[in-house]
This record gives sequence, C-alpha cells and structure tokens, in this order.
Amino acid sequence: MSARIFRFAPSPNGYLHLGHALSALINRRLADEADGLLLLRIDDIDLDRARPEFERAIIEDLGWLGIRFDGGIRRQSDHLDDYTAALEALSGEALVYPAFMSRGDIRRHIADAEASGRQWPRDPDGAPLYPGIDKHLDEVERRRRIDAGAPFAWRLDIDKAAQLAGTALCWREDGSGPNGESGRVSVDPKRWGDVVLARRDAPASYHLSVVVDDAIQNVTDIVRGRDLFYSTGLHRLLQELLGLPVPHYHHHRLVLGDDGRKLSKSRQDTGIAALRAAGMTPADVIRLAGTD
Ligand code: GLU
Repeated sequence: MSARIFRFAPSPNGYLHLGHALSALINRRLADEADGLLLLRIDDIDLDRARPEFERAIIEDLGWLGIRFDGGIRRQSDHLDDYTAALEALSGEALVYPAFMSRGDIRRHIADAEASGRQWPRDPDGAPLYPGIDKHLDEVERRRRIDAGAPFAWRLDIDKAAQLAGTALCWREDGSGPNGESGRVSVDPKRWGDVVLARRDAPASYHLSVVVDDAIQNVTDIVRGRDLFYSTGLHRLLQELLGLPVPHYHHHRLVLGDDGRKLSKSRQDTGIAALRAAGMTPADVIRLAGTD
C-alpha cells in the first residue's frame, strides 16, 4: 500500500501563530501514526499579500518548534500554469463565466434587493452570494467588455456545476465540523453561489489552487482548522468537476484568543516569534497550543 500523505499549507501573508502551530503539530502526529509523509506547502497564490519575509519567518518558526517535514517545499507561485490548466478545463465545459460587477455594484444590488424586503442569501462564511446577473451576457458582449479592458473575475456557474456533479457529493470527515459533523458529510455546493475561481490579476483563488495542489501532490489526508470545514464542500465539487482524487479530511479545533475569537494574522495576534522573544521554549509553546 502506498504511504499516506499529509500536508501543512500556510499562506505567507503574516507570521505563524498558535493556531498554525497546533495544525502543524497535529499533522505531524497523524502522519507519524500512519507511518506517512508530511509535506510543507507555501500557499502564496495571493500575490498581493504574500511576502518572502513572512515565508522565511514561518519556516524559521516551524524549525524552532522542531516540526519535521518530508521532501521539498512546493510554492504555489511556481506553478501558476497548473491552475491555468484547471481553469481552462472548467472553461472548456462552460462552467465559468467572466463576472464584471465590482464590489460596489454587488453591494448596491444587494442593498436594493434587501430594501424591497428580500432576504439576500449568504454563503457559509456569511458573505452575500454573487447576484450572477452577468452570467446571462452573450459571448459578443463578454468579448466587447473584455477587449475594452473592463475588470472581471472568473466565477463558477454553481447551478451548472452542481447539476453536473450530481447529488451524491460527500466526504469522509475524520475530525469534526463546527456543528459536530463527522463521518460521511454530504455536500450542498450551492450554498457557495458563483464563487470566484480566478481574477484577471490572480491566476487562481484559494479554492481552485488548493484542490489542484492537493491532487498534484497526491495528498491523501487533509488536516486543517475547522474554519475551512464548509469550504470542503466546494473543494469536493471542484474535485468532481476536474476528475481529481478525493482525500480524507480532518478538521480540528481552532485556537481562540482571549476574546473568544479565532486568531488571525491580520489581527496581530501573539505570534510564535513574539512568544519566543518573550522567553518561551518550544515545549512551552507546544503546551500552550494544546492538542486536538
Ligand atoms: N493556505 C490556507 C491558510 O493558510 C490553508 C489551506 C488548507 O489547509 O487548505 O489558511
């Protein structure tokens, strides 16, 4: 039997915090228990926010914590062609369309609809679904706008995609979701609406790049924080559309700040580097991160 493959995939748009440390530690433990491999991937697809100094700091902090990785590092920015190929495959099936509404257009459209008493649907993260008006533009008008330099994003036509994928989408959850979901979890991909898969200046969204990378790296076990639990439904849909293998998933608890909210890089929460600077040892930080 071939080895099970795990991965830890931080985005270098901030410093490593306790939540990442917990995720990397759980990944290492589960990989060791399965006699498997743990890969380190740098998810730097967000070219605007990813910075080499964060990547250096993340790698240094992981080394300081004593977390071992197998094989070389994969950086998303080195593999943009892989994401373009996936987008083209979806485009070949007419599953994506150029969406021209700006953030302001979307906000106004939804505000108008809500002002007339309509409750606008939201995705599992609470963001309003894309109105999808320009899904119905014809090819000539799309071309005209693109040639005129109008900004746009490639969005998934979720109705078409869900129909093509069928109703039996599910995944095996070895951890648990925010509402205690575990075992066989069924997916309703329509909850995400017409998500962005790429922008004119960003070759792939997080969702598209992550499923492509996991398949290319033969990842069998995806172990990550519970904040990504519902995204898995969308990942399963993309895997189905692209004919990719289906890994097992294990979502683990999040490390919460004193205010009960999850830690985030953008909130400048206490990072591993700051804990080190405050005199903590790796063992102290590992104890503070806790276990699953
Ligand atoms: N790169 C993502 C992050 O830093 C995680 C990707 C994943 O585990 O699927 O939040």
